[in-house]
Amino acid sequence: MKVLIVDDEVDVKDLFLQQFRKEIKTGVISTVFAHSGAEALEILAQQEPLDFILILSDINMPGMTGFDLLKEVKERFPSLKVLMVSAYGDAANIEKAKSIGADGFVPKPVDFELLKESLINISQL
Ligand SMILES: [Mg+2]
Repeated sequence: MKVLIVDDEVDVKDLFLQQFRKEIKTGVISTVFAHSGAEALEILAQQEPLDFILILSDINMPGMTGFDLLKEVKERFPSLKVLMVSAYGDAANIEKAKSIGADGFVPKPVDFELLKESLINISQL
């Protein structure tokens, strides 16, 4: 499954590559990284046909926030699943993410075992 990971923190890429090393090596997951919402939309616009299954997006980013990106993605690519990732896992953010159409919420620091289970479940939908 092809996953687009959006986060303004550069370290996140290394963390995901490390945590998903086995899955990437065996071809279960392939990852593409974007450092802003705008970059993520550019990447998606270049996909023809759209072969991403899922976006994992940070909420707190300069410029376009994760909520802005979520809104845009759900309008333009309704089949894409979006999980929001944020340290600010308070009820208000979770509610807001859900109301815009998020398919789930992943608190930071990310529990990778739990995330892998969620990804497997989503890919089987
Ligand atoms: Mg951030």
